[in-house]
Amino acid sequence: MAILTVQNISKNYGAINALKGITFEVPAGAVFGILGPNGSGKTTLLSIIMNVLKATNGSYKLFDEVATDALRKKIGTLLETPNFYHYLSAVQNLKISCAIKGIGEDDIENVLQTVDLLKRKDSPFSTYSLGMKQRLAIGAALLGSPEVLVFDEPTNGLDPVGISEIRNLIKSLSAKGKTIIMASHLLDEVEKVCTHVAILKQGNLLASGSVQDVFNQNDIVQVASDNNIKLKEILNTINNCNSINVVNEKIELSYNAGIANLAAINKHCFDNGIVLTHLQLKKSNFESKFLELTN
Ligand code: ATP
Repeated sequence: MAILTVQNISKNYGAINALKGITFEVPAGAVFGILGPNGSGKTTLLSIIMNVLKATNGSYKLFDEVATDALRKKIGTLLETPNFYHYLSAVQNLKISCAIKGIGEDDIENVLQTVDLLKRKDSPFSTYSLGMKQRLAIGAALLGSPEVLVFDEPTNGLDPVGISEIRNLIKSLSAKGKTIIMASHLLDEVEKVCTHVAILKQGNLLASGSVQDVFNQNDIVQVASDNNIKLKEILNTINNCNSINVVNEKIELSYNAGIANLAAINKHCFDNGIVLTHLQLKKSNFESKFLELTN
């Protein structure tokens, strides 16, 4: 099932074309990153999906159906930094969030545990670190146990520790079966937590799909010997690599990320009478691929 299907959405603010015919699909269970530099249209897109803004053209579906407010209730959102009361505690603030959502308060303890704020649940919000404040905001989105979570720049303004806490929280929510859609301008964040991605630049969709497909995450193993012709014949009998190419006096084997086994390649060559003069793993570079896409 698709959680979200975006079909040819455009949005103009007067003469500014913030989104130009965007189409993609978010599969159930994905951690879906909407990645793009500032001003690329991420917030505009999330606001349209949550019915805060109207699209100029195009349409979208939620859970394979025409979007309604009832379906939107299955989505917990964190679109901008929420206004918690500074002098109230986490529990008191979440009680207000429950009242606004029109739901009971039974979830509060559970949610505070999930976002790791149980120990500080009765401290005033004003005494929280930025990371704790952001985790409380995510907690508010989790109230009512929505199947889908939409986060706009969830790590904005946080230090490395705060960023890593949010990253772990997103991973644990995903492991519990939630589908997460998050906007981010941080390549690193998307690389570390997302299973799928849509890349926006100046309102255009540059690519979308699984992270593996979009960034073609192949690791390259480079080898060479005194007899590269025989070496290539021997390498052809290795069956778990995707392709073998000769590049500048070296032979390059391409593997899906993380599965290349250098020791096994070395042994295979040696057992077949070839001593390698060169053996090197070159990890695929996510960043160079992103720059290639966005430049
Ligand atoms: P950021 O990460 O900086 O929030 P973004 O990718 O979320 O960026 P948007 O905020 O969606 O991008 O903005 C997309 C474009 O639309 C930008 O050029 C922005 O200036 C413009 N824009 C956004 N909101 C409005 C508005 N209310 N009126 C006019 N232009 C707007």
